[in-house]
Amino acid sequence: MNLHSGSPFWRVKNSLFEHTDQLEKDLITEVLIIGSGITGALVAHELCNAGIECVVADKRAISGGSTVASTAQLQYEIDVPLYKLAKKIGEKKATSAYEASLQSIADIKVLVDDTGIKADFEYIPTLLLASNRIGLRRLKTEFEIRKKHNLPISFFTSEKLKQDYHIDGHGALWNNTSAQIDCYKTSTNLLAYHRKRHHLKLYAYTEIISYEKLEDGFIAKTQKGLTIRCKYLVIATGFEASRFLPKKIMKLISTYALVSQPLSPDQLWTDRCLIWETRQPYLYLRTTSDNRIMMGGEDIPFKNDRLRDAQMERKTKILERKFHRLFKDIPMVTDFTWCGTFSSTDDGLPYIGEFNEKNRFFALGYGGNGITFSMIAAQLIKNKILGKKDNRETLFGFDRTKGS
Ligand SMILES: Cc1cc2nc3c(=O)[nH]c(=O)nc-3n(C[C@H](O)[C@H](O)[C@H](O)COP(=O)(O)OP(=O)(O)OC[C@H]3O[C@@H](n4cnc5c(N)ncnc54)[C@H](O)[C@@H]3O)c2cc1C
Repeated sequence: MNLHSGSPFWRVKNSLFEHTDQLEKDLITEVLIIGSGITGALVAHELCNAGIECVVADKRAISGGSTVASTAQLQYEIDVPLYKLAKKIGEKKATSAYEASLQSIADIKVLVDDTGIKADFEYIPTLLLASNRIGLRRLKTEFEIRKKHNLPISFFTSEKLKQDYHIDGHGALWNNTSAQIDCYKTSTNLLAYHRKRHHLKLYAYTEIISYEKLEDGFIAKTQKGLTIRCKYLVIATGFEASRFLPKKIMKLISTYALVSQPLSPDQLWTDRCLIWETRQPYLYLRTTSDNRIMMGGEDIPFKNDRLRDAQMERKTKILERKFHRLFKDIPMVTDFTWCGTFSSTDDGLPYIGEFNEKNRFFALGYGGNGITFSMIAAQLIKNKILGKKDNRETLFGFDRTKGS
């Protein structure tokens, strides 16, 4: 499947990562990471820093999957609101999942600072708008439970929204803990950093077509018949992980995005905050370092890439219309459009950890905040390999769906 179509902005803005080496001979390593998107890059980062030898192999160009199409907002909000997640898995676990998500934004910032890589990381607030009265009621319930658990959150009345943001609305939730990055830049720069510093072996256009379990590890086979022997296997193949999984754990979704021509900074909204709305299908907004507006949403169930792509023009028009309804005075003109596929899970949580086989780890950051989940996956897998206990495994592991 094509994970995206059209012109993803990071692909246009950044030059193509120049590393195109393919695997040319059999290899032996400690850890094989399948997938060089933001998840594979973060796993490689954690392992390299812990002194664990690893190899990254990708069937496409490096970070050329969903990572290049991502609008890359980092928020502690999970797809399923806390009050709903609490009903599904209990209040304590649900709060822990939100806290882990919050922590991972701070951890990404530390990573960017420690490595010095260019990532266009920027802390920026989030404004979650109530689209109607039902949305407002839900936001109030969400506000109460987040307040109860000391999660960062404020409630804005419609008057405050109008006064501070010039938005006509019913009310909103606000917090200043979120961030935005350039996902492709972060991923490729991180991989380049560890190639240089830790001699990370990185292979593009190298598809892992199968693997066998050995007594002391695994032997993976590429499309050219070459082999990589490893003690641990990390599957960071994003939304194409189903070939490695015996059961269906995700629903695929088609999503649409666009970026505007650059504006002058004073034409953008207050704080340049990330904006989401409660309505389904939703609209979300962010800005870029060169003063463009990036927006997305209009999600629909994914059937195949041809049907997804056929909707691109129509969905772009809807996104534009929704934007102009929200900000009547901002002269937004579309420059690039694209669409992609991502996936969601029933509880909005990722799948991270071992499944059915020891030393084979999945790093599947599914959902709208895939990137924060990728950070959690990287830390959790490193801890598992080092034999350290990590309580997040019970929250995000496969066992939570046992019997389903
Ligand atoms: C339009 C859009 C907007 C989004 N916005 C956000 C957002 O605002 N915030 C957020 O957190 N998330 C967002 N997401 C989700 C986020 O982009 C993903 O969670 C993230 O990019 C997934 O990274 P990944 O490394 O797991 O997957 P990918 O980037 O897809 O990387 C997986 C890699 O595995 C490779 N691969 C697959 N199978 C094999 C194989 N057999 N052998 C070798 N290689 C293989 C693929 O080629 C691919 O490069 C968005 C997604 C889309 C499409």
